[in-house]
Amino acid sequence: MNKNFVSKLASMTGGLSAGSMEHMLPVLEKIRSLKKEKNAVVLSHYYMPPELQILASQGGIADFVGDSLGLSIEASKTKADAIIFCGVEFMAETAKILNPQKKVLIPDPSAGCSLASSIKAEDVKALKAKYHGVPVMVYINTYAETKAECDICCTSRNALNIAASFPGKELIFIPDKYMGMNLQKNLANHSDKKLILWNGACEVHEQFSGNISQLATANPTAEVLLHWEVPSRTVASSLKNNKGMVGSTTDIINYVGASSGDTFILGSECDLGAALMGLYPSKKFITPCIVCPHMKKITLYNTLKALEALHQENESLYRINLEEQLLERAYLPIRKMLDFA
Ligand code: SF4
Repeated sequence: MNKNFVSKLASMTGGLSAGSMEHMLPVLEKIRSLKKEKNAVVLSHYYMPPELQILASQGGIADFVGDSLGLSIEASKTKADAIIFCGVEFMAETAKILNPQKKVLIPDPSAGCSLASSIKAEDVKALKAKYHGVPVMVYINTYAETKAECDICCTSRNALNIAASFPGKELIFIPDKYMGMNLQKNLANHSDKKLILWNGACEVHEQFSGNISQLATANPTAEVLLHWEVPSRTVASSLKNNKGMVGSTTDIINYVGASSGDTFILGSECDLGAALMGLYPSKKFITPCIVCPHMKKITLYNTLKALEALHQENESLYRINLEEQLLERAYLPIRKMLDFA
């Protein structure tokens, strides 16, 4: 019995039935042993089911848990030959762009994203033709072919800083319109830069509206945690009377760590709540629990399948394949972002 894993999972979920644990533990042990045998690392995003977010050092399978850029950078510092990316396709692509010598496998290649799919390379070319000379800042939640057409990449963590400091009076920001509107409001405190937005949205974060404001009213001392991708009217209404913040996933985690408050309302993907419960077991988190259906395609079971396929004939079913030229072009806006910091 892997006691560390069982107790960590209990702290993140409030306990699972013995039945699910009975099925989970043998799969977990197989993954832990295959990772060593095949010199692979497992990266797990904060929106993964809790059993995938437990670190190997705590009895789980994840070598790193984090946001998509942080995970890809951590993997690049390892001597692993392969990455199993527990996240959605655009994230696994980013891992490949930053780790071109490593094989990158995703447990379910159909794990997409409404935001990344909202824009294609052709759309960026059309925007550049319409707004001639205006630079394009692309959110990391996009596919490689989209990134390849852009001037600079950003994450939810550094978007405000880059938008404020990037030369020029105008900036095209793609693809999240809500994040763009939130950035535009915050930019007003730093500069007169005008953002030109695309009509994309995250199907999870756009659902935070009256549900969060009602929770805030019902729990007046609770602090509200909102992701940049939440609509700006929700940000305004739920932060009107409650303390709180809007920012990136990492900002949310850091905010809770620094706060003396004990109750928080979460306006982000449901399993970020599990990550927060694991990190801060003495604090209470309230959330409408909206899940990303794409993220939930990744399970302990298909993670094992991908790892079993690594270096075998069926590896191509899981492997991220990006042509060398695309890898190089998509790397440029990411490199520019990293140099900008
Ligand atoms: S949570 Fe939103 S941005 Fe993230 S993968 Fe799901 S749909 Fe895409």
